[in-house]
Amino acid sequence: MDIKGRIHSVETMGTVDGPGIRYVIFMQGCPLRCIYCHNRDSWDPRGGREITVDELVEDINKYLVFIKGSGGGVTATGGEPLMQPEFVRELFIKVRAMGLNTAVDTSGFIDIDRAEKLLEVTDLVLLSIKHVVEERHREITGVGTRKIISFLNYLREIGKPVWIRYLIIPGYTDDPEDLNRLALMLRDYDNIELVDILPYHDMGAYKWEELGYDYPLKGVAVPTKQDMERAKAVFRRYGLPMG
Ligand code: SF4
Repeated sequence: MDIKGRIHSVETMGTVDGPGIRYVIFMQGCPLRCIYCHNRDSWDPRGGREITVDELVEDINKYLVFIKGSGGGVTATGGEPLMQPEFVRELFIKVRAMGLNTAVDTSGFIDIDRAEKLLEVTDLVLLSIKHVVEERHREITGVGTRKIISFLNYLREIGKPVWIRYLIIPGYTDDPEDLNRLALMLRDYDNIELVDILPYHDMGAYKWEELGYDYPLKGVAVPTKQDMERAKAVFRRYGLPMG
């Protein structure tokens, strides 16, 4: 049976969501409510458009030469790709048969038994950690950290390669003490191949306004080069593999 999924959009020649050139699929639906969300229009699981695995595979095929030649693959992001695990799994099985690498870009807010089978056919997990402090994580995303930490522990248990992503939002996620706490925690995970510290940007703000919502971070400045260097230095001090 050709399973159907709901997607927000695709990007055919991505270069930042895993190794090589990537075909990136933005899945529709997300259980988080990040106050800086750059894809505000991806939250509603009934939104987006329906597509079959075969339709996606057909489109991926058009770019196969470039993707394969670069050692790249397919990344399912969102929204939250782990909200549609059966669909992404079927897709990844076919994508792997084409000789491509598979990656999910997730917040990790998922019950492990829902993700297990998908992870069997996933080569790399890009895990976006939003904050290390429980209350602050709730303020920023609307949910707590327990499930996310359990997910990261599970990835270590099964030896799944992970790239961590952490966004620096001045006044929200850049407290040096919190950064130290996160870096210390991450040091315990030998399956983490890369820690990417990224600057917050407000390029998704217009989407909130288009949908009739106030953008919660209106007026918050993007981090300076020095802010970024300061944050990265903390993770380097702990010997973490940095991008
Ligand atoms: S996890 Fe991603 S898509 Fe979901 S609300 Fe947060 S930033 Fe938006």
